[in-house]
Amino acid sequence: PGREGAAPAKRRLGVMGGTFDPIHHGHLVAASEVAAQFHLDEVVFVPTGQPWQKSHKSVSPAEDRYLMTVIATAENPQFSVSRIDIDRGGPTYTTDTLRELHALNPDTDLFFITGADALGQILTWRYTEELFSLAHFIGVTRPGHPLADPGLPEGGVSLVEVPALAISSTDCRDRVAKGDPIWYMVPDGVVRYIAKRRLYRGE
Ligand code: ATP
Ligand code: MG
Repeated sequence: PGREGAAPAKRRLGVMGGTFDPIHHGHLVAASEVAAQFHLDEVVFVPTGQPWQKSHKSVSPAEDRYLMTVIATAENPQFSVSRIDIDRGGPTYTTDTLRELHALNPDTDLFFITGADALGQILTWRYTEELFSLAHFIGVTRPGHPLADPGLPEGGVSLVEVPALAISSTDCRDRVAKGDPIWYMVPDGVVRYIAKRRLYRGE
């Protein structure tokens, strides 16, 4: 550090992909903890595009998921939100997300943050070899999901313990549908947005 003529340190950008239907404190704590442990300059939240094939699971409109993510992250100067997956259209593949972020952010190292459940599925993703050349992968602990190295490339993935929050978007949606409170599971502004837009009320 400080060496004469040494290349300046690259910017370190965390990438938190998700459906965020809705975003909750489990997502925010994971991003905050990884940002601190990995000395990230910023974490960008990237809501997924609208799945055009709504077979078994219907997802809220992309615009609602995007706005909830903005509301939840607006106060943190280290957090931002990207529309790239929403604006691309079609299903979201993480390779496309990382390729695009790479092009938009020269001289930046990317750190893709993913929960233990999603990390387990990583080897089933498309273009796995390319994924690891685009970003360092960080698997975070999540209550109810074992965090094990699923045989990922040497040095390509770090496993990180984050404060345990047994919150899922599925549970938040179910609670709203039943009329149960979600205060303190998601940021206050997100509770109010869900009420205003009458999301997750069922038929
Ligand atoms: P759903 O129940 O609809 O699948 P979710 O709570 O799993 O929602 P996602 O948007 O699917 O939320 O998750 C985005 C990312 O955040 C994934 O990598 C997921 O593993 C991670 N994540 C979600 N909840 C937590 C949590 N409570 N602790 C740690 N990581 C989490
Ligand atoms: Mg999930």
